[in-house]
Amino acid sequence: MSHLSAVHEFERNLLLANEPLRRAQADAVASGSARISALSGSQSVPAWPGATPKAAQRSATIQAEAFAVLAEYALATRELVTPEDNDRWRELVAEAERRRGAGVLADELRLSGPGAALLRVGIGAEPPTGRRRAPDCACGYQFTGVLPERLCPETADILLRRWVAEERRLLRRFPELAADITAVLERTAERQSREVKQGGEYLASDMAGRLRSGGRKLARLRRRHARELSSLDLSRWRSLAELLSRDARPAVQPHAARAAKRGLGSAGLAEIAVRGLREVERMSGEQLARRRREGR
Ligand SMILES: [Zn+2]
Repeated sequence: MSHLSAVHEFERNLLLANEPLRRAQADAVASGSARISALSGSQSVPAWPGATPKAAQRSATIQAEAFAVLAEYALATRELVTPEDNDRWRELVAEAERRRGAGVLADELRLSGPGAALLRVGIGAEPPTGRRRAPDCACGYQFTGVLPERLCPETADILLRRWVAEERRLLRRFPELAADITAVLERTAERQSREVKQGGEYLASDMAGRLRSGGRKLARLRRRHARELSSLDLSRWRSLAELLSRDARPAVQPHAARAAKRGLGSAGLAEIAVRGLREVERMSGEQLARRRREGR
C-alpha cells in the first residue's frame, strides 16, 4: 500500500465530482506520459562531463520532468479547486509525509495541487513508495525544511543532482545554446584534468582560476542568448541554486552563489568542480601508494 493511499482516495472522489478538474487532469496525464516516455536515453543530454552516477542521473532526469509536469498542472488548475478542497489535500499530503518520515526531499508532491498524486501515477513517475529509512542529514534541512546556515554534504548532493537534471531539462529546448555551453564545460574539464596531472604548488588556485574563466564564458553566453532565454521558467533552477549557495563544501558553493550572473551551465560547472576535487584525491592517493611501494 502506498503511503499516499488516503491522498489517492481523496483525489479520486474530487475528480469524480469536479468535471473541469477531471478533464484538465486527464489532459495532463496524456501530455505528461508522452514527455516522460520521450526521455528514455536522454538523461545525460546535453552531454558534458558529469559527476553523477548513471542510475542516479536517470532518476533525477525523470524526477525533473515530472516536477515540471506537476508544477504546470498546479498552475493550470489553480482556479478549478475550492480553497476547502485545496486545504484538505494539503493536510492529507502533509500527514502522509509525516508518517513516512523520509524527509522533505523524498517527495515534492506538496508543491503541486489536488489531482497531482494520481497524475504522477498516471505518467509513471511515482517515486519509490513504501517505508524508507530516515534521511541521512546532519544539517537538519531534510527533517524540517528549515534552511540551515550550511547544508550537509548528503543534502547538498541530492540538491546538486536535481540542479543538474533541471539544467539539462531546460537546455534540451535550446540545442544550439546547449552545444555552446557543453563546449565551454568540456574545455574547462579537460584543462582542469591536465592541471591536476601536472600538479604543483599552485594547483588549487590554478583550478579555481580555470573554473572562474569557465564562469565568465557562461556569463557571455547568457548575455548573447538573453532573448531566447527570457521565455524560460527558471524558477526551480534558481531556487536550487539558492539552496546550494549554502553548501558547506567549497567546491559547489561559489558556482551556486554566482549562478544568477552566469546563467545556465552553472550547475554543470559545479559538477566539474566536484570532478576536479575527486581527480585531485585520486592523484594524491596514487602518489601516496607509489611512495609506499618505493619505501620513501
Ligand atoms: Zn542535511
